[in-house]
Amino acid sequence: MAAKRIGERVAHDAALSAALKQSREKLHVLNVYYVPNGTMKPLAHMAPFFSRFPELAARETRTISLLQPHAGLPAGDYGFLELYCNEPTCDCRRVLFQVCRADRPNKVLATINYGWESEDFYAQWLHGDRESARELAEASLDPLNPQSKLSPALLEVFRHILLQDPAYVDRLRRHYRMFKRAQRGSAPALTSSIPPV
Ligand SMILES: [Zn+2]
Repeated sequence: MAAKRIGERVAHDAALSAALKQSREKLHVLNVYYVPNGTMKPLAHMAPFFSRFPELAARETRTISLLQPHAGLPAGDYGFLELYCNEPTCDCRRVLFQVCRADRPNKVLATINYGWESEDFYAQWLHGDRESARELAEASLDPLNPQSKLSPALLEVFRHILLQDPAYVDRLRRHYRMFKRAQRGSAPALTSSIPPV
């Protein structure tokens, strides 16, 4: 394979890009991923996007479908579930992802932090903490929340595939604004991944 000669990383990305051409966003994502089970611990101050916008979350939650094992990730559907900050007065402009497989929705495989603004914006917001600001701006694994042996590979997929899609980043920004606008006008959303039954 020609791509192999260029380097392992390039080969991976090329193969993954090919696989992703066949990926799709699943309308039934809510049914697949949000199984009430009591095993997911609530995340302080963060609430799932679907808790306020269930129908939009069903349409606009990004899923990656790997048709074959890739870069250490088994074949399967991986959903990137968005959680946003639940503090009405906070404007932190970030998203936290819980990544789960469709066939094992109870298990969080990775927890990823990402902020779409500049590193400078977050450095200011974090009172000069440059290191944390950089981690937010380039996306990173959350040190306090669940990870697995697949976490590094999922972070790579997030950085090299999802973040390369400007429309997707715009979507996150839009979801955040919607979420903030809604919370200013009502009671806090559930601070949990588990939906009301
Ligand atoms: Zn916030």
